[in-house]
Amino acid sequence: MDFGLSPDQERLQEEFRDFFKREMEKAPAGWVGGNVEEPYLSDENWAFHVKMARKLGEKKWLMLALPEEYGGINASPVVQMIFNEVAGYYKAPGVDVFGVKMIGPVIHAMGNEEQKKVHLGKIASGEILWCQGWSEPDAGSDLAALSTSAVRDGDHYIVQGQKIWTTGAHRADWIFLLVRTDPETNRSRGITFLLADLKTPGISVEPIVMMDGQHSFNQIFLDDVSIPVKNRIGEENEGWKVAKAISNFERTGILPVGYIERELEELIQYCKETRSLGKRLIDDSSVRHRLADLAVEIEAARALFYRIACLHETGEFMESVALSSAAKVFTAELYQRLIYAGCHIMGLFSQVKHGSKWAPLKGAFERLYQHCPGENIAAGTSEIQRNVIAWTALGLPRS
Ligand SMILES: Cc1cc2nc3c(=O)[nH]c(=O)nc-3n(C[C@H](O)[C@H](O)[C@H](O)COP(=O)(O)OP(=O)(O)OC[C@H]3O[C@@H](n4cnc5c(N)ncnc54)[C@H](O)[C@@H]3O)c2cc1C
Repeated sequence: MDFGLSPDQERLQEEFRDFFKREMEKAPAGWVGGNVEEPYLSDENWAFHVKMARKLGEKKWLMLALPEEYGGINASPVVQMIFNEVAGYYKAPGVDVFGVKMIGPVIHAMGNEEQKKVHLGKIASGEILWCQGWSEPDAGSDLAALSTSAVRDGDHYIVQGQKIWTTGAHRADWIFLLVRTDPETNRSRGITFLLADLKTPGISVEPIVMMDGQHSFNQIFLDDVSIPVKNRIGEENEGWKVAKAISNFERTGILPVGYIERELEELIQYCKETRSLGKRLIDDSSVRHRLADLAVEIEAARALFYRIACLHETGEFMESVALSSAAKVFTAELYQRLIYAGCHIMGLFSQVKHGSKWAPLKGAFERLYQHCPGENIAAGTSEIQRNVIAWTALGLPRS
């Protein structure tokens, strides 16, 4: 669909496409790509991710929207969206979701000058990679119930507690944490936002292996960890404001529409090339209708994302809150519908793993079938996104 890009935006789009097309020819053999977890799954994937991050950093494309002094090119939110779409389409690594799409923009918007100088350049160059320490065993959807404590001791906080589901912590360099600094309240008002080097003594990272045997999750134990006060973003006990700002970036950052579109294109190609009971899969009208429905939904998702980018461009951030939740829940569920449709169309072949000559599309759907439900949980579950839409966009009651 033509969104009326300017000649400059079209030129940049072409540059992004050329770059990723060329670079993705060097992807490791088993690379499925497109999802946040992929870079963490093997040493080979991680090396590819880091190399790509540094290349993008050199081009100043990692954090395009930053001013030049911090390593960006002052690009508009729409250009950032174009970049996300193209990188997603090529299933490219390099963009550290936690650094580039979450903590980087927040440090730029809410950090002090020293924090910007220390961190932004390293995020924008791909030198330092991040992870997100928010969820705890008893605090997920109800994040404000978190209990990891931080007690002020001079110019440091002493942190004690546990985080869980921390994607990529076994490979990242730094972590951003939500901690409780006011034990008198068990809700959002007593929470503070801290940044920590993962090499700080007292931090230990333990793996959690997923049902498909892969390792991207971890749990983190924090035992008397000393974190400098200068690593605090915002005021003490006001970390919730920072967390809310990050959530908006997170919801629009994890599942690019370009990636879902690419999966659909590959599925269509498979249906054109594969025969069942003497005819091509694509000759079955029920298959064609299912693919057509997905194509319509992809365009709807794209329109939502561009609407959010336009609101950011005009500074209407509050108007984008419910739309970010809408974009997140719609694309996560659309992605799941696409993977399920693919598995249905492929039949039992969809269960064959990568490496077998019988595996369609290099076994991607076998992996993605197990992975895609997680997209409805990460960054806030679909139920929580629907709550946000109900409360903020529709003014419905909270109980
Ligand atoms: C792929 C993936 C990556 C992740 N990466 C990270 C990470 O890097 N860092 C990190 O900190 N966390 C991460 N998480 C954790 C994620 O943020 C939490 O799993 C999520 O917030 C849900 O919390 P929970 O698992 O405790 O489920 P719960 O909050 O216990 O929810 C259980 C069920 O109850 C429903 N529910 C809960 N409250 C309500 C309500 N008020 N209204 C309606 N329904 C409700 C939920 O929708 C869900 O279906 C990741 C999760 C996944 C799946």
